[in-house]
Parts: sequence; C-alpha cells; structure tokens
Amino acid sequence: TEALLKVENLQKYFPIRKGIVVQKHVGDVKAVDGVSFDIRRGETLGMVGESGCGKSTIGRTILRLLEPTGGKVTFEGKVLNDFSGEEMRKMRSQMQMIFQDPYASLNPRMTVGDIIGEPILIHGVSNRIEREKRVRKLLDVVGLSPYHGARYPHEFSGGQRQRIGIARALSVNPKLIVCDEPVSALDVSIQAQVINLLEDLQQEFDLTYLFIAHDLSVVKHISNRVVVMYLGKTVELSDSEELYRNPLHPYTIALLSAIPLPDPMVKKERIILKGDVPSPVNPPSGCRFHTRCPKALGICKEQEPEFKDIGNGHYVACHFVK
Ligand code: SF4
Ligand code: MG
Repeated sequence: TEALLKVENLQKYFPIRKGIVVQKHVGDVKAVDGVSFDIRRGETLGMVGESGCGKSTIGRTILRLLEPTGGKVTFEGKVLNDFSGEEMRKMRSQMQMIFQDPYASLNPRMTVGDIIGEPILIHGVSNRIEREKRVRKLLDVVGLSPYHGARYPHEFSGGQRQRIGIARALSVNPKLIVCDEPVSALDVSIQAQVINLLEDLQQEFDLTYLFIAHDLSVVKHISNRVVVMYLGKTVELSDSEELYRNPLHPYTIALLSAIPLPDPMVKKERIILKGDVPSPVNPPSGCRFHTRCPKALGICKEQEPEFKDIGNGHYVACHFVK
C-alpha cells in the first residue's frame, strides 16, 4: 500500500538556555534525533516507548505544531516543510490530533458545541445552522447525545471528554489522526470502549492513525504495524503480528517481557532493565541503548547500529540482528 505520510530523518531539538540577563545556549534536548518511517493509507501505526523517548514530539512535529530542527515530512506527496504558516493551517484540516489528557485539552469555558464547531468554522463553514447540524451529527457519531452540545466539558466523564476530543478532530474530515496516548489517562474499563470507537470510526471514515502509547499491550490489537522508540530513535518497526511473535531488538524483547501473555501456560521471564533512561541532552555514544542492554558488547559503545530492513519490512537497529 502507498504511504500517506513519510517521515525522513526527522529531528527535533529543544535548546537549553541559561543566564538571566544574557542567555547562553548551553545544549539541546535531543527529543527526536533522526527518525524515519512511513504510515500507509488506512493503517494504524502503533508507536511505543517509555515517556521521554520522543513520541509526542514526533506527533506534534509531523503536524508542525512544533517546527522540526531537521528532516522531511511528506503528506500525500507534498513536502510539508516547504509550506507557509497559512498553507499549513489549511493542510491541518487533513491531519488532526487527539490528546492524552481529555481534562486539559478542552477549553472549560466553551460549550461542547463550540469546541467541536470551532475547527469547522476555522476551515470555512461560516453558516451557523449548518455548523450546529454537523456538531449534532458528530456527537451522535462518537456515541454522545446530540443535545450535549449546550453543556460544558466539566459535566462529562473522562471517557466522554475523550469522545468530545475525537468529535472535534473528526469535524474537519481529516485523513490522518495522530492519537497521542488517547486512553492513558482513562480507567481501564473505559479504555477498550474508546479504542473500539476509534476502530469503528477508522472503517467508517477511511482514517489513518498514528497511535502513540507507552505500552505494547495497548497498541497490540489496533495496530497493523508497530514502531518502537528509544531515546529519540526508532529501534524496531514491523508488522504487528510479527513484532509480538518474533521481537528482535533487545529493548522490544524487554518491553514485551513485561506484558502478560494470552496463554498462561507459556512461561516467560520478565527482563528488568538496569538503570533509568539516560538524558536526551547527552545521549550515550554508539547504540543509545548500550547502557541498559543485556546483550551489549564493546562495539555497541563505539558504533551506532543502522536501522535496517532485515526482510519483509521488519526493521531493527542492532549490530547483532541480521
Ligand atoms: Fe544492545 Fe548492542 Fe544491539 Fe544496541 S547494538 S541493542 S547495545 S546488542
Ligand atoms: Mg507523551
């Protein structure tokens, strides 16, 4: 299948400045440091890694809510880096985002109807009656009452608020939705409902998702392919089934060892990684994972492994996986 979105060597550094009168640039947080992947039309690409690995930054940089430091993002053959702010605003109707915290991401002083109707207005539907009609339809589509438009966000539960956020994203008929940990803040009992809704909407509206999560179990069922991130880099990407059955990167293997197996008769050992994730200001030399990797050898500290296709679109960045 053809790629809807292509990310090449994407980089996002946040400068660190010190000093009160004269500010000095003392370093960079290398949040995303040379990341390449694509998202195929109609698929869900799951993106997984511990907090601070650069997932949210990638999501925001793709939509140019953050300006990239380097690299290239192509959407339907158009290079987004070349777009002016105005052109990018128009483009954004095709690329929307759902945020992690449904409590923080909705303006508490706006009615639900105005929250959902705002992007429709920005993208050119000036007729109020028509907007209200669309808002009622969207509330229905996400499983809320069409009469909820007059209420305020605080009157809703977390799961309902996430539905409002989804309706808002859907309001401008996007092709791609970046779902940034859309269920992480919700009760476990509500998580499956929201994921099921996202799956239904994908079918109904031909959506493509980048689905960000910090845990491999969350993205398992929804993803066609999964990409695993570590400290601003991609370490493994593959077809979802293949990744769960045959993980090859030591980091993916450790992450998978932490989630319960569907078959309780199969025994597996939990791999506890030593230490914390290192600072993205001064990431380790060579393979960034070498300070915690149970398989690390001398070369790992010296040389950065290439992120390469070892067959059938299964990409791994490790010197010992060929
Ligand atoms: Fe571990 Fe070395 Fe492979 Fe990196 S390159 S994942 S440190 S074995
Ligand atoms: Mg995040």
